[in-house]
Amino acid sequence: MQKADKSNENQRPLILVSNDDGITAKGIRELVEAMTQLGEVIVVAPDSPQSGMGHAITIHMPLKARKSDIFKDLGVEAYECSGTPADCVKLAKFHLFENRTPDLVVSGINHGSNTSISILYSGTMSAAIEGAIEGLPAIGFSLCDYGENADFSHVRPYLLKIAEQTLKNGLPKNIALNVNFPARFDKETQIEQTIKGAKVCRQAHARWQEKFDLRTDPYGREYLWLAGEFVNPDKGEDTDEWAVNNGYVSIVPCQFDMTAHHGITHINNEWNIEK
Ligand code: MN
Repeated sequence: MQKADKSNENQRPLILVSNDDGITAKGIRELVEAMTQLGEVIVVAPDSPQSGMGHAITIHMPLKARKSDIFKDLGVEAYECSGTPADCVKLAKFHLFENRTPDLVVSGINHGSNTSISILYSGTMSAAIEGAIEGLPAIGFSLCDYGENADFSHVRPYLLKIAEQTLKNGLPKNIALNVNFPARFDKETQIEQTIKGAKVCRQAHARWQEKFDLRTDPYGREYLWLAGEFVNPDKGEDTDEWAVNNGYVSIVPCQFDMTAHHGITHINNEWNIEK
């Protein structure tokens, strides 16, 4: 089990916060504010939006990190970084705070859902997964509302509870949690939703059906704009998609070891590879 290894038990836990919407996003402020109730918070977050970057890292460009006073009002030390969410966690662990090991890494709160297959494209989850790769308990939080002024006020109790439980009980090794919250207001009806509870789920077998809009720029040159549609044939009531669409917080334990063990068996049994 990955439990916080604190030399001084009276010390407040150290919580590293990052995100992919950038350090000025509303969602990260909500997360930072909540985490200050649980421990000492440090922030390393991108200086620009990095949604959809997946687990990208910066290797062919200089990486810049600057101290930021954006969370000074909360007494929180923060850095803004020119790189991706994964870069931010690496920078925190191996450079900016190299003498301090976080007890918890949290990312978000993302403006938009990261259920199902979206985890692979998600910058929010890449920060959490990078934390898990570094051997730290880690959680990515997302709200199913893309609006930049999205209302996060209903998620605070669950944010605190899930982070608190992770700090207290740890997580099995090499696992990060993908947590998604239902939007405060229903997209179609605009009716306020109340969260019914939290469910531990599996990732729904859904995908993006991509469509490219062909457009023309002011100089008459053609360009493309990705405009995908989320398609979910998986109606399982044990999925993250079902949970968030039915008023529950979804918690999916994720792993970065993507080995498909049944694939090993199949290839060994069915293929004829010259050895
Ligand atoms: Mn995002």
